[in-house]
Amino acid sequence: MLANSRQIVKEIGGKTQLKEALALVVQRAKSSMDADACSVYLKDTPTDQYLLKAADGLISGAVGKARVSRNEGLVGWVAAHEEVVNLANAPDHPGFHHIAETEEESFHGFMGAPIVHHGRVLGVIVAQKHERRRFDNDEAAFFTTLATQLGGAINHLLAKSDFSRQLNGPSRGRILIKGIPCAPGLAIGSLLLSQPADLLSTPDRRAPDIAAEEAAFQAAVSAAKEELRASGERMSAYLPGEVLSLFDAYVMMLESEKLNAGTVARIRKGQWARGALRDTILELALVFEQTEDPYLAARAEDIRNIGRHILLHLQGTARASGEYPRQCILAGMELSLAEISNVPRDRLSGIISVKGSAVSHTAIICRALGVPAVMGLTDLPIGYLENCEIAVDGQQGVVCINPSPADINEFRQRMQEEQAISAELESLRDKPARTVDGVLVPLFLNLGIGADEVSARAAEYEGVGLYRTEFFFIARDTLPTEDEQYSLYRHLLESFAPKPVTIRTLDTGGDKELPFFTTAETNPFLGRRGIRFTLDHPEIFLTQLRALLRANAGINNLQILFPMISRVNEIDAALGLLDRAYLDLTAEGQPAAKPQIGAMIEVPSAVYLIAALSRRVDFFSIGTNDLTQYLLAVDRSNPRVQGCHDNLHPAVIHVIGDIVHRAHRQNKPVGVCGEMAGDPASALLLLGIGVDSLSMTSSSLPRVKWTLRTFTSRQARELADKALKSENEADTHQLLNNALSAAGLNALVRR
Ligand code: PEP
Ligand code: MG
Repeated sequence: MLANSRQIVKEIGGKTQLKEALALVVQRAKSSMDADACSVYLKDTPTDQYLLKAADGLISGAVGKARVSRNEGLVGWVAAHEEVVNLANAPDHPGFHHIAETEEESFHGFMGAPIVHHGRVLGVIVAQKHERRRFDNDEAAFFTTLATQLGGAINHLLAKSDFSRQLNGPSRGRILIKGIPCAPGLAIGSLLLSQPADLLSTPDRRAPDIAAEEAAFQAAVSAAKEELRASGERMSAYLPGEVLSLFDAYVMMLESEKLNAGTVARIRKGQWARGALRDTILELALVFEQTEDPYLAARAEDIRNIGRHILLHLQGTARASGEYPRQCILAGMELSLAEISNVPRDRLSGIISVKGSAVSHTAIICRALGVPAVMGLTDLPIGYLENCEIAVDGQQGVVCINPSPADINEFRQRMQEEQAISAELESLRDKPARTVDGVLVPLFLNLGIGADEVSARAAEYEGVGLYRTEFFFIARDTLPTEDEQYSLYRHLLESFAPKPVTIRTLDTGGDKELPFFTTAETNPFLGRRGIRFTLDHPEIFLTQLRALLRANAGINNLQILFPMISRVNEIDAALGLLDRAYLDLTAEGQPAAKPQIGAMIEVPSAVYLIAALSRRVDFFSIGTNDLTQYLLAVDRSNPRVQGCHDNLHPAVIHVIGDIVHRAHRQNKPVGVCGEMAGDPASALLLLGIGVDSLSMTSSSLPRVKWTLRTFTSRQARELADKALKSENEADTHQLLNNALSAAGLNALVRR
């Protein structure tokens, strides 16, 4: 029966309407068990009651009418207790309450299970039978499994239907949603979808002009066919015949009567082309999915691929006519570096995405570009939002869809306030980050993307604390040569000379895969990342080390930083290769200069090796993004656990204190270059813990400087002492926010 429940969930995954999906659930669940009725109640948020949304076997007029409060009757009992009940005779249960509309007097056997998503009870699924008998073990197992599996699918459909209701509702579609603040700043603009929305998030819409929709569909099918033929021809030199025949199979699918006639029929009934295509493709895919034959079942994916191809062309037509909006809010499921860089910088006002999190590398890029960004909008059906006006608050992580005139006024006023703050910050440009009692805190830059722009203003900064070389590698189709790397590094070192420039060796892997070197690991963040990759590829590593040593010749402001160190022999091996590169270069008569060497402390094991590492390196740099990820076992780029990736978790604060203590005992300086250093309140805390320097993006630097110049180092130490005593991160957030507010820095408080 378990396979059966999976099948039901798969089927409802293909439904775009909640009503249809729930009708299918109750019908399938009832027929899979020895039940006489099956129903689903969903929470009605405004009344806080559970409303009967679908039923099979109860009187049909009750749907949409019968409702119970939380804790009222057995349905309310299941919702309140978040527990499954399986009863031979429902009226015997103390929680029983007769729901008049359903006329359920004749039922006795009752089983109810909560439908839960991310800890929230969305509703209750109920199975009933006339007989006085509990549901048997197999039925109970099937039913509870089904209820558990339904949570995600129902939540997704609820979010979608809430969206379309609100978009077309009386407040003219104004919707506020909360995501993860990923890059500060405010922006208002028109939404631009970066990639074709998946079929499922294509909304229903009436066709404004049926003939035009039909023509657009035909044109998109022809374009998709043409594209596939051309790709097949291009690939014919590299692919074997049996693989190439797949292209022909796809073209045949595109020509199929079912696909074409089915879509056209739907358009003629009034659906727009994209909605008609979606329904046809999902219907065809389901036919394949329902077969027992795994080969045929896998063809469902081919059908969906074909659908995405056609959708891409349907959307492409829309993009060509619209170009990039003047103030563009780029949106996507997950935005890549290439997608962001496709939009002209002067048109890119903001970024929102369904996936991603504050320490994902896309977020780091947004901060480097100074583009406000909100990510982790997990239930946002972006396909519904094409061309909507959007206001993005990257500081608080709020997105307002179709803002009202009052919202726009408020945004504009806050933008003016931001400008006033920027002007105040501008006045600090030439001032050092010195605390009120005179302690100087070196503030360095994190660079990678947009480095040229910042390098041109190098005189304003104290140096570079982290140059992420991987972004240079990722933005290309091939590995950069030694000479290309040399030019890049040399330019950087010259721009900042004599100030220090810390260049980190290639830190690929995790969510930074080289486009020409995919490894498809199951756990990429625990795989061949950083130093593990470069030690496995001495040919790539040596090229980079040679370029770095050459670039440093005669300038001597280079510091090399090795990423993802988790054991001492990695440093030994890396230093061995560095020596070899140096000896080779001198033997070749090429100028080269040895740099200072640092190790990233971002894997917990490295903390306990600091004494040994200190015998080999000159300084340490704490990568709080990864250190938090690995210490707390929280994937830094998974928005579902984003709330758990918190730099202020007591364990993170303690480990940073420990690192500082161990490094200082060996007389080695220790800086922080993770995103934590760029958060004003956390920067203050890091100073209090005893960190020697901070490194952050240029857009974060003025606010951190402002903060440090407002406090004394003693106040910072007192805050650190209190934070080290706190048992959870919420208290530390409160502690730091209160300190900022008390110092008049309300604008920097993170809520
Ligand atoms: C870190 O992990 O904190 C860090 C600075 O490195 P990255 O974010 O590039 O992994
Ligand atoms: Mg890291």
